Amino acid sequence: MSLARTRVEGKRRPRIMYLDLDLHNGDGVAKAFASPTYFAKDTERPPQVLTLSIHHSSPVFFPAPTALPTSDTPNPFTLSVPLAAFPSPKTYERIYHDCVEPIRQAFRPDYVVLQLGADGLPGDPIGQWGAWSIDGPGGMAWYAEKVKSWGIPMCILGGGGYDSPNAARAWTTVTSKMVSSPSGQADGRFLTSSKEIYLITTTFLSMPHHLRWK
Ligand SMILES: [Zn+2]
Repeated sequence: MSLARTRVEGKRRPRIMYLDLDLHNGDGVAKAFASPTYFAKDTERPPQVLTLSIHHSSPVFFPAPTALPTSDTPNPFTLSVPLAAFPSPKTYERIYHDCVEPIRQAFRPDYVVLQLGADGLPGDPIGQWGAWSIDGPGGMAWYAEKVKSWGIPMCILGGGGYDSPNAARAWTTVTSKMVSSPSGQADGRFLTSSKEIYLITTTFLSMPHHLRWK
């Protein structure tokens, strides 16, 4: 409805920024929304979706570095920030200020989708980074609060995260901060009438160990 109304009124089409912080490159979403136009002509309208993936990269990790967008890409709407192993939260903080925020200001999204993969957190069995954090400047929750401060509708997604208790802690913390409430004691309930928030992900904590996916 809103998309159709925007076209009728002659305004620009809504723009969506997809910011991906999973350990892995967001190649699937990037390919799904990559523009075939590359903004080749001045008369062409820019794509509506910009994908920006901040991810681990090495010659032995998918995808191969040669498959990633290069710094001289003709398509500024499918972007990648490949990182070597063990970047610190300080590195993430700097990437936000030097990369994410300038791209946001240039693209001026109307909506943002934030993918918060937890497989870059310490203890993840397939993590190659292991030095990221949930809290503190540059951490997962810090990123979510920064993006929330943009003041546009946002959708937050989970992602990878193969240490179930850690993934539950991470996403519980983020959700708690997004609703400006303490996380309280996770007991598996979901109470919308309470100032506290209880997450479905917390059910992992009470799940028998042999049922968890490791
Ligand atoms: Zn992943």
